[in-house]
Amino acid sequence: MSYFSITNVSKSYDAQLALQPFSLEMKQGEFLAIVGESGSGKSTLLRIMAGLEVQDSGTVMLEGNPILNPNQKIVSGYDEIKLIHQNFHLYPNSTVEENLSRPLLHYEREYAKSRVEDLLRLLGLTDYRDRFPHQLSGGQKQKVAIGKALSVEPEIVLLDEPFSSLDSIQTQQLISEMKTTFREMGTTVIFVTHDLDDALRLTDNLIILQKGKVAQKGTSRQLCEKPKTKYVAQLFSPINKLPDTKNCYVRPADVKLRTKGGVLAHVTDSRFLVHYNSLQVQLKESSITWEVDDPQRKYEQGDRVYLSWKDTKVMSL
Ligand code: ADP
Ligand code: MG
Repeated sequence: MSYFSITNVSKSYDAQLALQPFSLEMKQGEFLAIVGESGSGKSTLLRIMAGLEVQDSGTVMLEGNPILNPNQKIVSGYDEIKLIHQNFHLYPNSTVEENLSRPLLHYEREYAKSRVEDLLRLLGLTDYRDRFPHQLSGGQKQKVAIGKALSVEPEIVLLDEPFSSLDSIQTQQLISEMKTTFREMGTTVIFVTHDLDDALRLTDNLIILQKGKVAQKGTSRQLCEKPKTKYVAQLFSPINKLPDTKNCYVRPADVKLRTKGGVLAHVTDSRFLVHYNSLQVQLKESSITWEVDDPQRKYEQGDRVYLSWKDTKVMSL
């Protein structure tokens, strides 16, 4: 018996299919990221997992017990499975400590107190315990919101793009911090996002969702090196179509640049990026434009360059 299993769950809204039959098995403490663009069915899937949405078919089971949907259960949702999204709610007139304590009102006082102390420490909020939400940064507020959800010690945390209101530096930092926290607590985590880079900060265990359907599933390395579709391939980098082929592509990092021998091209633009220069080159014969990496920062706009690549790096998509 697997710890958390979703079997053939599907959902339509007004005869419009939002999620095709979806199945998943997870082990306790495992992390998973589900990546997909807006409208791909991510929120629908998480809401069904949390028992907050009625599915058309399929089941969700946690440790052998069914997760009941709002048609089957009077008070929908479970303490064991917490869904955290962007529109978090903090009590504005309560301090950080009080916000974290609220969900624990019905718990034994000693336990509640020590749990709140644990959370303040885990989230690095001890120094902010007496502050009110308006005295916190966006990242800190979001941490308190996540802390509120964690206070009842959920077994599974479902993160539905909870960092969308934060800038990318705050987001990266918060994801790293949350990863440590979730590991320490042994929480099982599913993180849903449209941003592959954010996903990879948490885990390289990925599912790519596209139009309500699993496009591919695997580690980041598997998906990057052996993408099954153009969509999956392009999540990792731009791709360059080989001239005179129907569906063969190569990544910018896999194109070698030389002063002679290969396909002749002209550099039309160069951008300085942290690890390499990104060049735009126009292929001589076909007037196709490619993007290629110049890790030695050797070529400039107007230069001639010869391009080559290994057959093993060619992706048929
Ligand atoms: P995502 O979270 O990936 O953006 P959603 O699960 O929110 O995707 O939506 C998937 C599809 O279902 C979209 O086409 C969306 O418009 C539709 N949808 C979501 N919720 C509802 C709803 N309550 N009523 C009607 N259509 C909905
Ligand atoms: Mg969504």
